[in-house]
Amino acid sequence: MIYLDHAATTPVPREVADAMYEVLTNQFGNPSSQYQLGLDMKKQVEGWRETVAAALGCDPKQLYFTACGTEGDNWAIQAACWQNRHLGKHIVTTAVEHSAVLECCKWMEQQGYEVTHIAPDGRGSITAEQVLEAVRPDTALVSVMMVNNELGNVYPIAGIAKGLAAKNPKTLLHTDAVQGFLKVPFSARTLGADFITISGHKIGGPKGVGALYIGPRVRNPRPLLAGGGQEAGLRSGTEATAQIAGFAKAVELRTEGLADKLAHMAEIKAYAVERLTAIPDLTLISDGTAPHILAVSLVGWPSQNIVNDLSGQGICISAGSACHQGKPSHVVAALKLPKKAAGGVIRLSFGPETTKADIDACAEALRSHHDTRMPML
Ligand code: PLP
Repeated sequence: MIYLDHAATTPVPREVADAMYEVLTNQFGNPSSQYQLGLDMKKQVEGWRETVAAALGCDPKQLYFTACGTEGDNWAIQAACWQNRHLGKHIVTTAVEHSAVLECCKWMEQQGYEVTHIAPDGRGSITAEQVLEAVRPDTALVSVMMVNNELGNVYPIAGIAKGLAAKNPKTLLHTDAVQGFLKVPFSARTLGADFITISGHKIGGPKGVGALYIGPRVRNPRPLLAGGGQEAGLRSGTEATAQIAGFAKAVELRTEGLADKLAHMAEIKAYAVERLTAIPDLTLISDGTAPHILAVSLVGWPSQNIVNDLSGQGICISAGSACHQGKPSHVVAALKLPKKAAGGVIRLSFGPETTKADIDACAEALRSHHDTRMPML
């Protein structure tokens, strides 16, 4: 199998699975239990928190484990709106956020909030100025993703934070960094965001675990779940110890030689651009600079047919966000591409394990699709 869909999820290295197995079988205590097995587990969880916090560049006390990136996004948006409920009921976000943000914003609309969606240009870019212009005195929250999961565009979070501090210092800033964490260098300490969402399964960790950074400007953050008071009272639910152990192990493995891994992914992406753009009718559709995501269009050939054809040859690519299977992608729609180009958009995404031979096989399969299938759009 050739796996070119690392933005959807990533393979779990053996060491990560082993770390999880150990917790599931031998170290299975509940961190809230008061006997040794529980106390030991509590200590371990704090160690794993330190590992993830160090990679994110924050104090471990500012990091809360969640069940996924989706939870982090929902929690951040609702906690920010709660803190600023007296400031106003306006949210600024983008038209190209993950559904975890967009659908949560729809909930907020049902509660009387007004949501402004910033549109990207035709190449997926969004500037800090565009976002800041939309901010009003009653803006409770700005939520802008760090890296777009379908296009690979990197958005100017630090610039937005700086501008917000000058224009409307009470407005809170959330960034969904699920595709940015350990892919584009940043530190929570200097970024300026009040909330940062990350997820385990995009960096070699298991599915079903993530974390939310909550910065010092957030006072008494409102929990999403009421219950037993785990995670310093802010995220109830017995800690998913095996998932957390796996997340921390994945972070540890990824951060070893990270610069080389990122350089490798960037090299693979540049190679893919070179190989793929040699195929007739294939064009790049974004200016995304993230090293692991490449969006292209085989103009005229429906993307779902391409995905199915390559899948039959053991090659995994995506027709857009895996979360939108079967439905047209709101991200591609926001680019306002001509119909033929929009219908042919596919995403290739890479990991440290991806090789040039993988790209060669994919390029051959795409060329053959082009040469042997009739365009239908
Ligand atoms: N945000 C972005 C940008 C994503 O790419 C994803 C996953 O595809 C998520 C949020 C959701 O993360 P999770 O699958 O951990 O809920």
